Amino acid sequence: MYEQEEVRPVLSDRITALAESQTIAMAKKGRELAAQGYDVINLSFGEPDFQTPDYIKEAAKQAIDEGFTFYTPVAGIPELRQAIADKFLRDNNLTYKPENIVVSTGAKQSIANAVLCLVNPGDEVIILSPYWVSYEEIVKLAEGVPVPVQGRLENDYKVTAEQLENAITSNTKLVMYSSPCNPTGAVFSAEELLAMATVLQKHPQVHVIADEIYEYINFEGHHASMASIDFIRDRVITVNGFSKGYAMTGWRVGYLAATKEIASACDKMQSQITSGTNSIAQKAATAALLGGSASSLEMTEAYRRRRDLVLDLMADIPGFKTYVPSGAFYIFPDVSYYFGKQYEDITIASALDLSMYLLSDAHVALVSGEAFGAPQCIRFSYATSDDKLVEALRRIKNSLAKLQ
Ligand code: PMP
Ligand code: GLU
Repeated sequence: MYEQEEVRPVLSDRITALAESQTIAMAKKGRELAAQGYDVINLSFGEPDFQTPDYIKEAAKQAIDEGFTFYTPVAGIPELRQAIADKFLRDNNLTYKPENIVVSTGAKQSIANAVLCLVNPGDEVIILSPYWVSYEEIVKLAEGVPVPVQGRLENDYKVTAEQLENAITSNTKLVMYSSPCNPTGAVFSAEELLAMATVLQKHPQVHVIADEIYEYINFEGHHASMASIDFIRDRVITVNGFSKGYAMTGWRVGYLAATKEIASACDKMQSQITSGTNSIAQKAATAALLGGSASSLEMTEAYRRRRDLVLDLMADIPGFKTYVPSGAFYIFPDVSYYFGKQYEDITIASALDLSMYLLSDAHVALVSGEAFGAPQCIRFSYATSDDKLVEALRRIKNSLAKLQ
């Protein structure tokens, strides 16, 4: 409580406590340096460098020409919700009705909807770590308590069922993860998901947000969904979207599938905050799904080639501890070898210091691991051209060689 004479701060405690998204902050720093005339290679932002496929753009143009410019139902236009239900059956062997699906302004909003609808103040949310930057902050917005559980490099950064079991308490409400994972590129197998689901079977109060937005960017073949495990299905909220698989980041369309109870709650949440997402983008997203996944698979082949290129180049950099990412378009080496090293008056005490050094010395923008729950790592997004990757790794190698 504030005394009467005391000046109240303008901003709420909620926003003051919220950290800025580090992926977005670093991309911004890279752009600022580029605007000053530097030749910056930006490997910070997790964004496909491909254009949205033409057949999707055509559907949007047609929607405009046909005057599809009005508010839509909050949870999405019926044909898109049906196309998403069909996609779940086709790709994931999951049976959902349109009423189980809520379309949002990006998967980020789907995650925020689900967390805000499930988490009470003080509820613990287990976040499999390393994790995508926004999970922790969204949980804090809901006044939940983030409980990161750390996957180990030896296990490709994947948390085991045993680690999960040890982290659950009577206050645990939710478990969150992405597979394929941002920032590590790790992919959970069907067996690993089953082992985790078996642990959760004993804890009926615990729900799961399975973020599958990188589903199509999988180099190992089969994508496994936690929701396809029958005995836990009703406690899983599956999040997906169009940004990564269809190169549609700017269109802002994501979705979730859940029980009718949870989906209706998310619909209500969204009805008071944003309403239905952009009508034109929904038509484009419908066309994207009806067109199948061929264009996504083509892009995935390019990401696989770039992953191999980056792994080859990194093998030549002393002190980078790597592993082979199975999906997404990130690699997250452990760079702690450089902690304590110096160049002129610069001392590298952390991954943040190292990423700042590489930005100023090599003009390569990367995101340090602190915001992903892994302060010994740095994230590289390799969704860019081969030439840029070769040049970026050459510059990084030279700058690192100066550190003594
Ligand atoms: N989840 C993960 C793991 C992501 O990397 C992203 C990237 N933006 C999102 C969700 C959100 O995607 P969008 O809001 O663009 O659909
Ligand atoms: N998900 C992408 C990333 O991790 C885009 C930025 C964001 O939405 O945070 O870089």
